[in-house]
Amino acid sequence: MKAQITINSISRENYETVGEDKLSAGKLIVVTGPSGVGKGTLLQKLLERHPDRILFSISATTRSPRTGEEHGREYFFWDRAEFEQKRDTGEFLEWAEYAGNLYGTPRNPIDQAISLGQIVLLEIELEGARQVAQSFPSAKRIFIAPPSMEVLENRLRDRSTDSDEQIIKRLHHAKLEVAAAHEFDITIINDDLEIALQQLESAMFD
Ligand code: 5GP
Repeated sequence: MKAQITINSISRENYETVGEDKLSAGKLIVVTGPSGVGKGTLLQKLLERHPDRILFSISATTRSPRTGEEHGREYFFWDRAEFEQKRDTGEFLEWAEYAGNLYGTPRNPIDQAISLGQIVLLEIELEGARQVAQSFPSAKRIFIAPPSMEVLENRLRDRSTDSDEQIIKRLHHAKLEVAAAHEFDITIINDDLEIALQQLESAMFD
């Protein structure tokens, strides 16, 4: 569902034609929330409404692609050795291990997009969001919470993209994440999609 960051292809000349006001408007938004909370749907709608204003970072992961996912679109699907090599040479803005797999945000496209005045959105888990708070303090961090843990478990089971073992790991992680919601600048409860979307928009564009 992620829109590709095409900033890599923007040349130096284009960079220099971007006005000062645009340059200063670049910002980094971090969206965190437990697996199954509906971040994907919410962010997809956000992108449909603001296709020119928001860029979604494409993360790298060592997990296997799900049905319908493509390398370079939802994620860069790297093996562990490749991921660790890039991590060790400092190529990630942040990275974390989640449910037995590594996930990370490649740093270069983010830096370039921000310097070009874009609003860049990272959809990442808690540990990564904490790292961004340290390494990029001006980032706005938004937490998406479920109406309740029961609703979350039902959503995870209904989606049936993960094994029982994966669901248990994800629920365990979800509890830790919900308990950390107070660390974020804003918490949005995803009960009514339209209301949550409006809250997300005002948090992003204020
Ligand atoms: P999924 O396997 O369901 O696509 O993602 C699992 C979790 O990893 C989600 O909470 C998602 O937000 C998080 N995630 C995805 N990309 C990254 C990343 O680049 N860094 C970190 N720290 N978490 C990520």
